[in-house]
Amino acid sequence: MPTECLFRDDSYLKQCDARVLAITEQGGIVLDRTVFYANSGGQPGDSGTLICADGTRVPIATAVYTDAAKSEIAHVPAPGAPALKPGDAVTAAIDWDQRHARMRMHTALHLLSAALPYAVTGGSVGERESRLDFDIPEAGLDKDAITAMVNEMIARNAAVSSRWITDEELAANPSLVKTMSVKPPLGTGRVRLIEIAGLDLQPCGGTHVRATAEIGAVRVTQIEKKGKQNRRVRLALI
Ligand SMILES: [Zn+2]
Repeated sequence: MPTECLFRDDSYLKQCDARVLAITEQGGIVLDRTVFYANSGGQPGDSGTLICADGTRVPIATAVYTDAAKSEIAHVPAPGAPALKPGDAVTAAIDWDQRHARMRMHTALHLLSAALPYAVTGGSVGERESRLDFDIPEAGLDKDAITAMVNEMIARNAAVSSRWITDEELAANPSLVKTMSVKPPLGTGRVRLIEIAGLDLQPCGGTHVRATAEIGAVRVTQIEKKGKQNRRVRLALI
């Protein structure tokens, strides 16, 4: 049963009212709507709490998609959490400080990919430190130079916006695809685009801050060699 993913249209929602639709075989709680981001694209699923009308609190360790189409989200209860059943009304609340740190880091990774215009082969979003892996044969990457580039982009306070585009619109606008730093997946019907004004445009399903200054200062902490064609760049919030 599909979950209405409120975080896709408003990443600043900290809680919402919802109803339990089902409990999965693994014990995951499926709600009709949620503010919990589900683990995807290198960004971990949110933790938080489901609060029942009678005040019972169900701690949630993470949230995951149950299907390849990413239409249904299961909220994974922490060990020993009280059980819920279909039909129960809850308030779903995320651990906001953790999520906001991930939003800042995730947006910073977009800027890092703009500072280093090479193919990205992997990535991971953490609260304090995150990384992107780049397909670069020979490095010559300088930590301080990249740090300066990213912090300059942060200081511009560029607006971050999202919009949906259909496969047909994409096909009709080949120049749009050309300006994207990551090629959009085709055949899914529609794609969510994240634009950082004047800096970056790419398909992404993650959560981001509204404008780059909200990221705060960052620092490139490490550049590792991961195989012949791979450089792993780590970025931390200061
Ligand atoms: Zn993103």
